[in-house]
Amino acid sequence: MVIANNIESITAWKSFRRRPLIIAGPCSAETEEQIMNTARQLAETIKVDIFRAGIWKPRTRPNAFEGVGAKGLEWLKQVKQKFNLSVGTEVASEKHVYEALKYGIDVLWIGARTSANPFAVQEIADALHGVDVTVLIKNPINPDLELWIGAIERVHKAGINKIGVIHRGFSTYERTQYRNLPNWQMPIELMRRIPNLPIICDPSHMGGDTLYLHEISQKAIDLNFDGLMIESHIDPAHAWSDAQQQIMPDELLELLSRLIMRVPVSSDSKFLDLLGELRTEIDLYDEQLLELMEQRMKVAETIGKYKKENSITILQTGRWDQVIRKAIEKGGKKGLSAEFIGKLFEAIHQESINHQMKVMNK
Ligand code: PEP
Ligand code: MN
Repeated sequence: MVIANNIESITAWKSFRRRPLIIAGPCSAETEEQIMNTARQLAETIKVDIFRAGIWKPRTRPNAFEGVGAKGLEWLKQVKQKFNLSVGTEVASEKHVYEALKYGIDVLWIGARTSANPFAVQEIADALHGVDVTVLIKNPINPDLELWIGAIERVHKAGINKIGVIHRGFSTYERTQYRNLPNWQMPIELMRRIPNLPIICDPSHMGGDTLYLHEISQKAIDLNFDGLMIESHIDPAHAWSDAQQQIMPDELLELLSRLIMRVPVSSDSKFLDLLGELRTEIDLYDEQLLELMEQRMKVAETIGKYKKENSITILQTGRWDQVIRKAIEKGGKKGLSAEFIGKLFEAIHQESINHQMKVMNK
């Protein structure tokens, strides 16, 4: 894909930043005083890398506070000059892009509702042609990795090289503990598909409550994310949007100090030797798993042949129910979760059916 060939230019912007990169600031710009006071504290106590504030707010229902609009851009410009901070805001249309660029906003992010809409993303991308600005693309609200990658490609094709992504979780109909479901395998797969793409976690919108900020942030660090975007407000209780998930700058400082930093590489040779041995062991088990699967599918094919000769259906629900029950029970005794065994055996069963089908229809 286009992006993988261009890693250098995309990642250049992150090489001079610390890890994790910290983006903080209120959900929304409300008043000049609120913006200046929050920014002062975040600049002085935490030295955040990027100060965030929503100027145009995508609200679920009308009549909620929809942002102060362009006048807030003037406040962000002042933050930039006064505290020497990079500033960022969300854009959802061509007009937002032009307005934000007029005020020298350094970082534009595409929100989750917008990145789910290829028309809107393309409109933003077209407005970005020939501009040198950093663009962060939030995951679409629905868990669709191709859609997320599509948005990245649209922005990249517009000539933007300073691209990053923000993982903020996915909407669900059911009520869950978090406001949005993390689906961690999605950003992990994105990292595999586009290595070196800077990836930032947004625990505020994922958790939806200050209660979960620390645990989500630590998880992101453990998964080698490059940065965190956390909503911070001088007076969270009276915030005009997302009051429940915002923390004061000194609380943010405290939260960050409790995070345990981990790095993906080490130069300690004893540790590397040990890790190498253990990985060899894992590779061996993986090979054995593949061989076992090959043998298992051969048996399934033989069964398929007999079923065909005797005109028997492939699927026998009773038998499948027995297999999975037994596996979950036995797996539990071996410390394997029912969820894992369920998924594993469903995948094996499906593959087995596919092999039998092939034999039957030959
Ligand atoms: C935000 O960051 O303020 C925001 C609206 O986020 P999201 O697009 O993730 O909902
Ligand atoms: Mn918010």
